[in-house]
Amino acid sequence: MVTETQAQTHDEPHEGGLGTRLNWLRAAVLGANDGIVSTAGLVVGVAGATGDRSTLLTAGLAGLLAGSMSMAAGEYVSVSTQRDSEKAALATERRELEETPEAELAELAGMLEEKGLSGEVAREAAVQLTERDALRAHAEVELGIDPDELTNPWHAAGASFLAFTVGALLPLLAIVLPPVPLRLPVTVVAVLAALAVTGWWSARLGAAAAGRAVLRNMAGGAVAMAVTYGAGALLGAAGV
Ligand SMILES: [Zn+2]
Repeated sequence: MVTETQAQTHDEPHEGGLGTRLNWLRAAVLGANDGIVSTAGLVVGVAGATGDRSTLLTAGLAGLLAGSMSMAAGEYVSVSTQRDSEKAALATERRELEETPEAELAELAGMLEEKGLSGEVAREAAVQLTERDALRAHAEVELGIDPDELTNPWHAAGASFLAFTVGALLPLLAIVLPPVPLRLPVTVVAVLAALAVTGWWSARLGAAAAGRAVLRNMAGGAVAMAVTYGAGALLGAAGV
C-alpha cells in the first residue's frame, strides 16, 4: 500500500542528495528565524519594563537557551520517530521479500507502471532492479527512502540548536550592547533587517516569490516586538 505521504515523498528529488540538502538548509533558515523572532520578542518585552542591562542579558540568555534546547529536543524526538518508522518499514519490506518474492516483484512492476512505464518495460525493469538490490528498489520506489541515508537524530538536533542560537544572538546583542537610548531602535532595525534576509532566503529555497515572503516575515517580527513591548511597558508601569 502506498499512503498519501509516501506518494508525496516519491515526487521529491531524493537522488543525488539535492532534495535532502535543500531540506537541511530550509530547516536551518527557519530555525534561525525562530531564534530571531522569539528572542527579539522576549528582550524587547523585558526592555519595555526595565532598563536594567543585567536583567535584559539574563532574560535574553535564558530565552536563547530555552528556545534552542526546546528546538533541539523537538527535532530529536521527531527525527527519531521518523527513523524508527523507516526502519520498521524496511524490516517489513525485507520480510515480505523473503516470504513472498513473486508478489513483491509484481508490486514493484505495478508501481513502476504507475510512474509511466509500459507494462512490459515495467516488468523488465522490476526484474533487473530486484536482481541488483531488491530491498533498495522497494525502499526507493515504494517507501521513498534511501536505506543508506536515514537521517541521524543527533545531527538534526545539533543543527536546530545551532541555527536557533545564531538567530537568537542577534537581538540579544542588539539590545545589550548599544547605549540605553539606542537599544530599542538598534534592535528593531537589526531584527527587521535579519528577518528580511531569512524571509528572502527561505522563499528562494522554496522557489517562491521573495517579495511577499520578506514582507510577511518582517510583519510577523514587528507584531511580535510590538505586542511584547506593550505588555512589558504595561507591567513595568504597573510596577509588577
Ligand atoms: Zn515492497
